[in-house]
Amino acid sequence: MNDPSVTCPFCAIVRRAAPATITHEDDLVLAFKDIAPTAPFHELVIPRRHIDSLSSAAAGDAALLGWMMLVGRLRAEAARGAENGFRVVMNHGRDGHQTVGHMHLHVLAGRPLGWPPG
Ligand code: AMP
Ligand code: ZN
Repeated sequence: MNDPSVTCPFCAIVRRAAPATITHEDDLVLAFKDIAPTAPFHELVIPRRHIDSLSSAAAGDAALLGWMMLVGRLRAEAARGAENGFRVVMNHGRDGHQTVGHMHLHVLAGRPLGWPPG
């Protein structure tokens, strides 16, 4: 009852109940192509287990969070066009432009990325 993973669109991808172009999968995380890319390379790295956002992550999730970063780096390194750099970014909450309530890391590359963002 009230299990967010039941209605969560990214949990549906983990369960293979929704389509996605999955590019990496292991015991902890999945990476898949963003459905509305904002750069030539735009993938998301998510924990397999539902976590609402960074606020909901616990100290025990430190290894998981670190692995998300490393998988993001591995995916960017595998991408053509990321030789000159890439960005990993996690949006959080309304002001941080988090629109999907399953924690996710954006991996962006393939064009010069502006700074500051947003
Ligand atoms: P954020 O604004 O940080 O919450 O980013 C959510 C991201 O998820 C956006 O870049 C969306 O394009 C992407 N997205 C939403 N639904 C899907 C989906 N079903 N498959 C792949 N990417 C998605
Ligand atoms: Zn979820």
